[in-house]
Amino acid sequence: MPPSTPAPALPRVRVLATGGTIAGAQTGGSRGYQAAAFSIEALIGAVPQLATLAQLEVEQVAAIGSQDMNEAVWLKLAARAQAALAEPDIAAVVITHGTDTMEETGYFLNLVVHSAKPVVLVGAMRPATEISADGPMNLYNAVAVAVHPAARGRGVLVVANDEIHFAREVSKTNTTQVGTFKATHRGLAGLVHAGRLHLYAPPVRRHTTESEFSVGPATVLPRVDIVYAYAGMGRELIDAAVRAGAKGLVIAGVGDGNLNTVALAATAAAARAGVAVVRSSRTGGGVVERNLEISDDELGFIAADELNPQKARVLLMLGLTRTADPAALQEMFFTY
Ligand code: GLU
Repeated sequence: MPPSTPAPALPRVRVLATGGTIAGAQTGGSRGYQAAAFSIEALIGAVPQLATLAQLEVEQVAAIGSQDMNEAVWLKLAARAQAALAEPDIAAVVITHGTDTMEETGYFLNLVVHSAKPVVLVGAMRPATEISADGPMNLYNAVAVAVHPAARGRGVLVVANDEIHFAREVSKTNTTQVGTFKATHRGLAGLVHAGRLHLYAPPVRRHTTESEFSVGPATVLPRVDIVYAYAGMGRELIDAAVRAGAKGLVIAGVGDGNLNTVALAATAAAARAGVAVVRSSRTGGGVVERNLEISDDELGFIAADELNPQKARVLLMLGLTRTADPAALQEMFFTY
């Protein structure tokens, strides 16, 4: 018998689990469910085909629905992802995560993880016990993306519903549908069908290896609040945020980041007092440009450019770890 050639070892991938619906279980036939009920080992065990793609090593970083995601878990995730990627034999990191705040975690990691190796976030809209649960295929596709050489250097990615998204671009747009993730400005990073990849153009904004932001165990992320604008808005919530110690304020403005006269006076006062004020938009699409109806130059405001309010908050928190100068912060919004 001729000697057999040993098969090349499959790439090693570290899976960091945080919970979410992908690990969710329904109880007693009810439609409601508990997020983060299953361990990551159980999720992987439900997809035996994963063993053909990679050698998976798992680490449970948190076990929460992503509505409970917070800065402490972001910092822990960043540290664990960075440590894994620094290991020469680790090819990529996959993070299982609830879909509610996946866009924020993904964008945060896109700005603070310094590695060209793929980091892929994956979730599911249907709990693991639901009819046609989407988690198993999403997880399979996420690992397939993570081990693909062409996924390197594209920043943090999100995989769901056979789509690959840039974490910077993607947003959750629907409460329950499996096709909830959309990237309204710059489109898809690619498609992935049963593990086969079709990658499109690379990202245009600075990320990961080129990012100026770093976090460590001692990092304190400054308080940044989001205030939602609406017809007849008062100034009370803006004043309350400043009183509560906010170093930054993101306005989910009407239209092109607008505010009524009363709220504008409150934000202008906040900016004069040294609070960084970013104008984003509640519309869900489009660019907030400087100095259209509001004079950002005069008031010392920052325009969010393409970032929705929740992503603008992430960038502002990181930006404020480096500077409080509105002009320098504005430059970051044009860069990242
Ligand atoms: N609230 C859950 C979460 O974000 C539901 C969303 C999901 O995982 O699909 O963890």
